Formats: sequence, structure tokens, C-alpha cells
Amino acid sequence: IVRQAKAGIPAEVELERALRPLSFDDFTGQEKVIENMKVFVRAARQRAEPLDHVLLYGPPGLGKTTLSNILANEMGAGLKTTTGPVLDKPSELAGILTNLQAGDVLFIDEIHRLNPVVEEYLYSAMEDYKIDILLDSGPNARTVQIGLSPFTLIGATTRAGLLTSPLRARFGINARLEHYSPELLTKIICRSAGLLGSPIESEGAVELAGRSRGTPRIANNLLRRTRDFAQVLGDGTITADIVRRTLRALEVDEGGLDDMDNRILLAIIEKFKGGPVGLSTIATAIGDEAETIEEVYEPYLIQEGFLKRTPRGREATQKAYEHLGLSLPHQQQM
Ligand code: ADP
Repeated sequence: IVRQAKAGIPAEVELERALRPLSFDDFTGQEKVIENMKVFVRAARQRAEPLDHVLLYGPPGLGKTTLSNILANEMGAGLKTTTGPVLDKPSELAGILTNLQAGDVLFIDEIHRLNPVVEEYLYSAMEDYKIDILLDSGPNARTVQIGLSPFTLIGATTRAGLLTSPLRARFGINARLEHYSPELLTKIICRSAGLLGSPIESEGAVELAGRSRGTPRIANNLLRRTRDFAQVLGDGTITADIVRRTLRALEVDEGGLDDMDNRILLAIIEKFKGGPVGLSTIATAIGDEAETIEEVYEPYLIQEGFLKRTPRGREATQKAYEHLGLSLPHQQQM
């Protein structure tokens, strides 16, 4: 259940791990969140208590797992990692909880996908560091209460609203991670290139950053592919020219949007005259879930001004038309 380092992990996974910041000082961006976390960690350490339970939310690839690792490191605590869908029986959760040492951090990714029965067990574990375990069944059924070592639960989810309110209420610390500016992504890319031992020209780093959809995970992935091209086509140095050739070869959009972003915008424009159109209607039109569109795609499209959220639904902006090389319909032209 719990992810552990094993021999024979694919090299890409190893590389991704190598690029992961390990301390607050290594972590770029999300300044407000980091400032606050530093205070909470320091205060907890001074009191020799575990850190309060933390809920991290935001679109994928922005650093939730990374930050949970950092929090455990900064607390000087051990870390166990699991995901919501994997914990499908209370006994599995009990197994993990009873093995935690005092102060340990338990990271549950996709915590909104916990089985409701398992989730209920988590309530008393979080609140009183106790769990009730049911022994036997039928007439012999009885519960025993087991005390747990004080621990910190870090839950990650794409949107806080996906959690049930009793679960949400049990997190003392809540933090939302935002998409990164191109300047921050440039810093992250330069740091990663340094760790990979790949020389990179600053113009190349800027170009990559602008096309990484505000997401460090995408930036690091594109960097690794660019590194391959630099090695095979050049002398290993990542130049702006190599970056452009790589991105062209990978069909990465000029505006940094991915295929799904473009399908969403295109559907709104071509099928619904640019909107406004309801989220579920868009979802049906492109054959994806409304939830995914809302949590994964929309935040970036709105932030970058391709999409507007109005009381009557979603609307494509002028920028979206321009991006797709389409002309605005008459009534919308200003
Ligand atoms: P999430 O859990 O939110 O999906 P991760 O924590 O797995 O995202 O981050 C994805 C990758 O992006 C990691 O490999 C990490 O190296 C990198 N990353 C994320 N945030 C940062 C950051 N602030 N600075 C540097 N690298 C980052």
C-alpha cells in the first residue's frame, strides 16, 4: 500500500524524484503558503508536538506531494505515503496508523476518493489519536479501542470542496497551491537543469517556462525531453533553438495549452457560439467529466484569460479566438 523505493524503478521516476525540492529553501514560489508553513512548523517543533493536520489542494503537478515531503523533513519526521483509492478497507488504514511513530507524517493523496467507511475511521484517528477496531462478527462482535502515536495527516486533493465537511473540518491547516508564473517556472527549470547536469541558455529556459502551463511537473517533463534533443542534435547544451525544435516535435502549443485545453475552447466556440454554456454541457460535448474540467483545466484557462466564468456559464474570450486562429462572431466584436 505504502509506496516505497524499490530496485528497478524506471529511470524517469528516479529523475522526477531527484528533482524534488527537499527543504523550504529549495521550494520556489507559493510564497504565502511557505511563509505560513514555516511558522507552523517552527511553533510545533518548539512545543515538541506534531504539526497540525494539513490539507493541500490545487490542480495536479503544482507541488502538493513535494510540499508534504518538505513538511516531514522540516519537522524531522518520518513519512508514509498512500492514496485515497488504495485504502479501501478500514483494516488497511488501521495497519498503517498503528505503525506510525510519534510525530510521523501520513500523506494521503487524492483524499477525496477515500471510501466513506474508511473516512469515518479517520475522524477519531485525527481528532483523538484513537481508532475503534471491530473484532469478530455476529453475536461475538465487539470493538476495541486502540491508541495511536500522535501523528500529522497531510491530505492532498484537487479541490477542497470535494471533501465531506466533517473531514475538511478536521484539518487545522489549509493551503491552496496556485499555478506558477513564467518567472518562477524559469527559476525551477534552471534549478532542475543544474541537478540534471545539463547546461541551459537563459533564453531557452524562458521559452520552456512560457509553454509549461504554469505547472512545475510539465516544466520538468519538457526539460527532460529537451535534454534528449540537446544531446542527440547538439552538444548537450539546451539552447533556445533546441527548445523550439523540441516543442515543435512534441506539438506543444505556443500558448502552453495542452490538447484538452484546446478541445475545451474549441467546443465552446464551435458548438456553442463561444458561450455562455454550462459546464456539464461542455463536458458532454468533449466526452470528459465536468469535475476534471473544473479542477484540472479551467483554473489555468481562467487565470490566463482564455475563459470566463459567468453566472450563465463559461464563455470563450477574445484571447481564445485569437489563440485558435478564429475570428470573433459579430455580436461579440467590440
Ligand atoms: P502534485 O502532488 O501537486 O501533483 P508534485 O509535488 O508531485 O505535484 O510535483 C510535481 C513535480 O514538480 C515534482 O517532481 C517536483 O520536482 C516539481 N515541483 C513542484 N513544485 C515545485 C516547486 N515549487 N519548486 C521546484 N519544483 C517543484
